[in-house]
Amino acid sequence: TISSNSETTHVFRSKLPDIPIPNHLPLHTYCFENLSDFADRPCLIVGSTGKTYSFAETHLLSRKIGAGFSKLGVKRGDVVMILLQNCAEFALSFIGGSMIGAVTTTANPFYTAAEIFKQLTASKAKLIITESQYVKKLREAGENYPKLGEDFKVITIDNPPENCLHFSAISETADNDGEVSPEVEIDPNDAVALPFSSGTTGLPKGVVLTHKSLITSIAQQVDGENPNLYLTKDDVVLCVLPLFHIFSLNSVLLCSLRAGAAVLLMQKFEIGALLELIQRHKVTVAAVVPPLVLALAKNPMVAEFDLSSIKKVLSGAAPLGKELEEALRSRVPQAIFGQGYGMTEAGPVLSMCSGFAKQPFRTKSGSCGTVVRNAELKVIDPETGCSLGYNQPGEICIRGSQIMKGYLNDPEATATTIDVEGWLHTGDIGYVDDDDEVFIVDRVKELIKFKGFQVPPAELEALLVSHPSIADAAVIPQKDDVAGEVPVAFVVRSSGFDLTEEAVKEFIAKQVVFYKRLHKVYFVQSIPKSPAGKILRKDLRAKLATTH
Ligand code: ATP
Ligand code: MG
Repeated sequence: TISSNSETTHVFRSKLPDIPIPNHLPLHTYCFENLSDFADRPCLIVGSTGKTYSFAETHLLSRKIGAGFSKLGVKRGDVVMILLQNCAEFALSFIGGSMIGAVTTTANPFYTAAEIFKQLTASKAKLIITESQYVKKLREAGENYPKLGEDFKVITIDNPPENCLHFSAISETADNDGEVSPEVEIDPNDAVALPFSSGTTGLPKGVVLTHKSLITSIAQQVDGENPNLYLTKDDVVLCVLPLFHIFSLNSVLLCSLRAGAAVLLMQKFEIGALLELIQRHKVTVAAVVPPLVLALAKNPMVAEFDLSSIKKVLSGAAPLGKELEEALRSRVPQAIFGQGYGMTEAGPVLSMCSGFAKQPFRTKSGSCGTVVRNAELKVIDPETGCSLGYNQPGEICIRGSQIMKGYLNDPEATATTIDVEGWLHTGDIGYVDDDDEVFIVDRVKELIKFKGFQVPPAELEALLVSHPSIADAAVIPQKDDVAGEVPVAFVVRSSGFDLTEEAVKEFIAKQVVFYKRLHKVYFVQSIPKSPAGKILRKDLRAKLATTH
């Protein structure tokens, strides 16, 4: 639905009605609000071992961890860093932190020491939860870095190296069931999570999300009489995307906690193990990213497993072409396939496929769903700032209680991202069609400018990967004297196929207008991607610069 509150502002809203959202609560209270309905149901399932924690156990253990953190001196507003792959301890630490008013910052355990310390310093984390194999990195940092033991403490979930504490010892410090977690006053506007953006376009940016913002975002997805993303206690939700990224933390873990669905934790993506786990645990909902869709659509192993339990496949975090979507659909024909569109700063979900609703809507392939409830979306002309109507591409902006409080330690960046009227400017180009479905074209920054024309790399990448002899592809601009920029492609051939540069160029030329044609094709072994599934075009740009 569109409404004009002034002559020039077109505001897009969800097709579903607004709902009451209890965002005055602390996040953990909200997540476990309906605990009694599913206390004994599985909450966390560890894929590698099969170990299962019920909702009641998850709740109790989180309280114990929270109490343990308190004993170590963590107070309301203090920051705890989780430096882990997906595991039960990740969830327990995050919830435990929330219970004592602490703020959790999540980081990729594969980061280098320098990257970890950058985030540690920026977030002022006092405590790190990690695994012993990563502790070495925390010790080897140079002179000017914070010191393990002096400036921050370390808890490991396995056998602790010197000067580190054991995770289970932490929870045992408070073994009295009744009084495990000290009561802390929590303000809805207190920060609870400090995720960092993916660093796809520049350096990762610290994003402050409050109890209120996360509750709003979760409710926009799974609450109400007709939830946008319908999850129930009978669902088993696949958690293979890293929890240190907000997509998985919010839409998989926190939404499942709220709805009573089980979360199947997988440490890392490995196609055989993944298919086996889906079959064994009868996964019903799979949250994925485009590289995973690529694997599921193209890997022959998929045919050997029974994936008939899957009811919903939710892709997000990066553009996904129609062609790939169709290819996946044919492999899980019984499932509803749809996308969500998110951005760390937006809490993160802006729009979600309404085909996932309890009373679903028909949706189109390639769409990123409809703007979430209790929020406003507008599309503006990036040059003039004027708002645009249906079917007109422009920069997407979002407003609502779910968006971030601001960037960490960066009021200037915050002010250029969230305007005085409260609109968060995403930097993404997209449009809303006649059925209120949101389509993302590409990032403003990634558009290739051929003379006066704009070429979205995502569109060409989608076409490229639809070619049977192409396993993966990425498109970036190359400087050109005549046109300014021209699109060039990096292509990974499927094994056993000879594919020439000419054949690739021709394949694209047949399908696009002249200015979108590829000017050069580089064959490579792989496309660099972030753990959240994004193509690292900046790495390819650097590669191109060195080859010329
Ligand atoms: P950084 O801001 O640090 O450069 P990032 O923008 O990749 O990194 P995230 O917050 O993880 O960090 O990602 C948000 C971005 O991901 C969005 O702005 C958008 O460009 C892209 N994105 C997310 N979901 C989709 C989707 N369904 N389709 C297309 N693009 C998407
Ligand atoms: Mg971004």
